[in-house]
Amino acid sequence: MTYEIRTWPDKILKQKMKEVDFFSDGKLKEYVDVMFKKMYELDGVGLAANQIGIPYRIIVIDTTVREEEGEKGVKLVLINPQIVEKEGEIESTEGCLSFPGVQITIPRAERVKVKAKDINGNDIEIEGKDFLSVVLQHEIDHINGIPFINYLPPVKKRMVLEKYMKSRKKEALKAR
Ligand SMILES: [Zn+2]
Repeated sequence: MTYEIRTWPDKILKQKMKEVDFFSDGKLKEYVDVMFKKMYELDGVGLAANQIGIPYRIIVIDTTVREEEGEKGVKLVLINPQIVEKEGEIESTEGCLSFPGVQITIPRAERVKVKAKDINGNDIEIEGKDFLSVVLQHEIDHINGIPFINYLPPVKKRMVLEKYMKSRKKEALKAR
């Protein structure tokens, strides 16, 4: 099976993904490997499984590419992640691999605490501040079927979507 990036309005991006309950059969590692591969290919810092058509609650993150900006980066695999605490608010300017060409500024929590399982099924807890907090929220939203444009006010959301759909149509014509 090949895994390609799914772009809006693909319906898998609007659905809540299934819990992972298989940790020892090798399939999970295969999914995680292909997710990292795709994410690096597309220069992303985070990827949710449904963004490449895998219907489970898996996210991968690698923020080490930002280390030159003086932040400490991390590489994470989170299975069945859940935000259990949120604190503060920041303005976040974000793009999304599933919305090529779209960049928007939206409110996000400044700090989050996330409970999840690691690839072996052990319980883990991660705290993210600022950029990592934003990436965690963005990716966990994906596996809950929530696109980042949902945080825009309705009128602005409609404008952004119209422009996006128009540019996608143009791309599709060019590709013919
Ligand atoms: Zn995204």
